Amino acid sequence: MCLTIPGKIESIDKGIATVISARERAQIDLSLVFQAQVGDWILYATNRAVKVISEEDAKEIISLLEDKYHPVDVSKLPLKFKKIIFKVRSGNSNLTKDEILYLLSLKGQNNLETLFAEANTLRKERIKDFICIHGIIEFSNYCKNSCLYCGIRKENKVPRYRLNSEEIIDTAFDAVENEGYKLLVLQSGEDDSYSDADLIDLIVKIKQKMKVFVFISVGERSEKFYQEAYEAGATGSLIRFETSNSELYTKLRPNKLLKDRIKLVKAMIKMGYYVASGSMVGLPGQSLEDLADDLLTIKSLGVPMISAGPWLAAEGTPLASSNVMHNNAKTQLELMLKFVAVARFMMPDVKIPVTTALETLDPENGRHKGLLAGANALMFNLTPEKFAENYSIYDNKYREREKVWQKYGLFKGEESWEMLEEKLMLDK
Ligand code: SAH
Repeated sequence: MCLTIPGKIESIDKGIATVISARERAQIDLSLVFQAQVGDWILYATNRAVKVISEEDAKEIISLLEDKYHPVDVSKLPLKFKKIIFKVRSGNSNLTKDEILYLLSLKGQNNLETLFAEANTLRKERIKDFICIHGIIEFSNYCKNSCLYCGIRKENKVPRYRLNSEEIIDTAFDAVENEGYKLLVLQSGEDDSYSDADLIDLIVKIKQKMKVFVFISVGERSEKFYQEAYEAGATGSLIRFETSNSELYTKLRPNKLLKDRIKLVKAMIKMGYYVASGSMVGLPGQSLEDLADDLLTIKSLGVPMISAGPWLAAEGTPLASSNVMHNNAKTQLELMLKFVAVARFMMPDVKIPVTTALETLDPENGRHKGLLAGANALMFNLTPEKFAENYSIYDNKYREREKVWQKYGLFKGEESWEMLEEKLMLDK
């Protein structure tokens, strides 16, 4: 479920090991891996060892989590940037809109590397090396909406699919029991062929059959539905406000109002949901000022987790060939990484998953780059293969799952469940 940086055991005394990792020297409880010996590499979290691993694997994990940033030479930075960095370092995360805009418009390798390195340091300080892995099951690509950006909008000619309740439960069960997932997102287009009662029944069945945190992401339904879904055991919700620019919102989502969406997000927070929200970054017609407002909106909502990703052109949509300011993968990626880093500056403790869209922009390094710009979690796609390619909200969606993340990020034991429960519930 969660990957942490490994450490090497230096000495053991009465079941407590002194461990040195790339970051720290720590006292670690060995009761779960009592066979560990001096010289072994272990994975540990919250001062408890969870697994002994080989030196080779330890080095591989370290290389995934380590950055190669040069030490930041603050003296060489523009004065304004320097001031913001000192402000953030002193623990003041209340950036002004002007400061946010300044950071989002930074250019030049030295400036960008500094921005990412500072965000990464903050992530390490506040969330430690605790990279969580979540799974997403896209159970239907039918949608009654016509969002201009989205590849599964109702007018788009893509092969449609729906998983029935049994197929969804089987997919979830396999992920939880065989792969060790502890948090699953159930996502779909807005598909009314699943009634409120169907979805609630599905949540109840999943919660009865397996121990897993269920996040729902099914778009706009009544508050009554969300209240009942929460009571049925869906403790999390992934619902983006898409863009904080209300005009752009209605342009991209015909007949919909930003204020309704925000009202729903707030209602879910009030019901007790662990809400992940945010926007798309680099949409046609979106300005840097809009992005600064998106960040301020996320902060004012006070959500514990951000869900934001780059806009990607989707074939067949009205925006497919949009000539946008950020119209290539490199600039989109850079903008998204800046957005993540500034989010980390403004909300040091927030959870930021690297989205599949970021991986699509840079399949080899998107994940790594996202983490090193301040993100701290990964989202893997669990939709059964035969359907996955049709959940094409954007083109060339990246579906690879890196072996090492799977191998070590997903502990199967009860202890990993407790670790996540602690992490999730503490920051709500
Ligand atoms: N029906 C649900 C889930 C929508 S799909 C809902 O309305 O919340 C999940 C997210 O994918 C959307 O919220 C949107 O932010 C994102 N998305 C859709 N099309 C996209 C595109 N072309 N590029 C990037 N992200 C996209």
